[in-house]
Amino acid sequence: MIGLLLFLQTTIATPQNLVVRQGDAVRVVPVTGSTTGSYIRADLLAAALGGTVSNAPNAHYRVTLGETRLEVVEGVPYMRADSVIVPMTLPALRSGNTFLLPFQVVAALIPRYASGFFYDNGARELRIFTTIARHVAGPQPAPLGDLPPTVGTGSTTRASPTRARSLRHGQRYLVVVDAGHGGPDPGMTGPIGGGPRLVEKYITLAVAKLLAQELRNGGVDALMTRTTDTLIALSDRGRIANRNKGDLFVSIHVNATGSRSSAAARERGFETYFLAEAKSEDALRVERMENEAVRFETGAYAPKGDPLSFIINDMAQNEHLRESDDLAETIQQGLRSFHPGPSRGVQQANFAVLRGSYMPAVLVEIGFGTNPDEAEYLSGYSNQREIAASIARSVLDYISHYEARVGGGTK
Ligand SMILES: [Zn+2]
Repeated sequence: MIGLLLFLQTTIATPQNLVVRQGDAVRVVPVTGSTTGSYIRADLLAAALGGTVSNAPNAHYRVTLGETRLEVVEGVPYMRADSVIVPMTLPALRSGNTFLLPFQVVAALIPRYASGFFYDNGARELRIFTTIARHVAGPQPAPLGDLPPTVGTGSTTRASPTRARSLRHGQRYLVVVDAGHGGPDPGMTGPIGGGPRLVEKYITLAVAKLLAQELRNGGVDALMTRTTDTLIALSDRGRIANRNKGDLFVSIHVNATGSRSSAAARERGFETYFLAEAKSEDALRVERMENEAVRFETGAYAPKGDPLSFIINDMAQNEHLRESDDLAETIQQGLRSFHPGPSRGVQQANFAVLRGSYMPAVLVEIGFGTNPDEAEYLSGYSNQREIAASIARSVLDYISHYEARVGGGTK
């Protein structure tokens, strides 16, 4: 693939520890040396960045880092970052129960392929200068001792599910509308190959404003995390939602491929993530690893028929996750009726999100800004209106279905 040899020329100063900084919150992740080079524990890195590691058959692993999905095979010096294959100078390794990534992932791959991260080689610090709501880890990072167990332990410990806060029956609902990125964080830019420039933060704000308006027209209250071109800290997005006792959280984003190649430019479509509340996320993490393997086998980028049914069955007792998934499905269905891109389905975000909040939360990737056709589509005001109106309709539908269920006396 094009442009990837640059990797091999990257000079990497390897610290003893990696400092991960997000605003005032700092986490330290140890870096270990081997005879061939420096490595970092995949689970600790992912946890520090609000992501996860899951393993799959045949020594395959999936690591989520912010919006980026890495697929890694033990012993193979290549990784897939979203849709692009990236050569590495060292392979990922397994040491006992520990899965190790070459430090090059931190120093070169993440800064290049994952949005929202900056690696300061001098300070030896990885900064989360931006990210999106689903990565919110809360203002207090967990101490390292609380990090999830190493991948592949097979543990199935399940804490009691967190009780979701019910939507307010008989009151006006409050939907928190989050426009992704903002201010110094532009989000993604596109499209690949030139043409009118698209900057994610402006599209998300435009659509979020329209969405808030449509929701208000539909009789629910809407609160925007930002209404201008400003950067709202991650933890603040969650806090805004919590402080105002939102019932639902909807975050708007524009998708991007992991590379700037012409092949990557063809990637398009829309997808909706549902976000798990952190406590239940922790409790279900290991279980989900098993489920992830099914998706892995079928190919991460293959169209998914009903990718979540097997997960949802296991989560039936967790109404919060079910609500979030219901909302995501409703939104995805709505977009399907008019969006020119293919439906990429409902996805589960395996991130610690909105810790301490008790509301269903979804993140909508309304299209690929890297795809020239979709960039043009997303830039059109009438299209933005249609997207916003559709999401609003889905939210209102969801609320009325929820009301009907709750009003039916089953709770
Ligand atoms: Zn985004």
